[in-house]
Amino acid sequence: MTERIEGVTISHPERVIFDDAGPGKAGLTKAGLARYYQRIAPLMLEEAADRPLSLLRLPDGMAGERFFQKHPGKGFPKAIRQMQITESDGEDAAYAYVADAAGLVAAVQMGTVEFHIWPARRDRLERPDRLVFDLDPDEGLGFDAVRSAALSLRGRLLDLGLDPWAMLTGGKGVHLVVPLRRSIGWGDLKRFARGFAALCAQDEPDRYTVELAKAGRKGRIFIDWLRNERGSTAVAPFSVRARPGAPVAAPVGWDELAGITTARAFDTQAAQERGWAGVTRKPQGLTRPIFAALDKALAGAG
Ligand code: ATP
Ligand code: MN
Ligand code: MN
Repeated sequence: MTERIEGVTISHPERVIFDDAGPGKAGLTKAGLARYYQRIAPLMLEEAADRPLSLLRLPDGMAGERFFQKHPGKGFPKAIRQMQITESDGEDAAYAYVADAAGLVAAVQMGTVEFHIWPARRDRLERPDRLVFDLDPDEGLGFDAVRSAALSLRGRLLDLGLDPWAMLTGGKGVHLVVPLRRSIGWGDLKRFARGFAALCAQDEPDRYTVELAKAGRKGRIFIDWLRNERGSTAVAPFSVRARPGAPVAAPVGWDELAGITTARAFDTQAAQERGWAGVTRKPQGLTRPIFAALDKALAGAG
């Protein structure tokens, strides 16, 4: 049995990908997941279109194996488009991207559950357009600590002249995203991201760490600034997460975040109903005065 969704032939549409899809909900089949992405496409593609992707595939659903895939394999349908990217070793490699709902649905046909995106669009790959801070709490820290950290980092970014939006990851944490005008390169993006994370850890060392090693986290929040490198990814807004209950990476307004108690607050149905409500995304420049303000703060004068 097959089913056509958005012009894509879905094999095994009845296959159960999630056996639970939210409190009191039945499971989510492959066709159900494809229909979710079909419906959310106009909102999701605002951020996810035309970027190199890393796909988290679970061809047999939550019970089977899972793997990240960034290079499209043989047998990928045409709706999953391809582009060539010169990697750090100087070699060209094919990357997948999507430009429409059919692309999202075709990725589901290939077993994709999660979509992860580069912080740059394919027409100007050397000019990133997203600055992402991924707040990763140490084991044992509750969501209240993540939430207050997100609000606090927002304040620090506003002080520097940047206005981020927030996304619940559907896992444990929150991502802060500053939409960027495409005026700087990867070196400057990384320099700013690392500097900002270091500033937070410098001011509040008991609260934040910038060390990747889990051993060094001890009750603190790791400010993962490494999402801002050429080739790195972050989960796309409105991506379903391959975690129990099929939670969605959901954008949230700052006022609303104050009342949220878990990063897994929204399932597929809730995410569709919410959309981008309450979220403002305005492209901003990482300008010389902003770098200067960061350097001044890092020197202890800010
Ligand atoms: P959580 O809130 O649970 O931390 P998360 O999506 O932020 O959810 P992380 O482990 O912090 O999960 O990873 C941050 C991002 O880094 C992911 O969204 C993903 O895009 C990318 N990432 C992490 N691990 C891998 C991997 N093995 N391969 C490719 N990308 C990865
Ligand atoms: Mn994270
Ligand atoms: Mn992380």
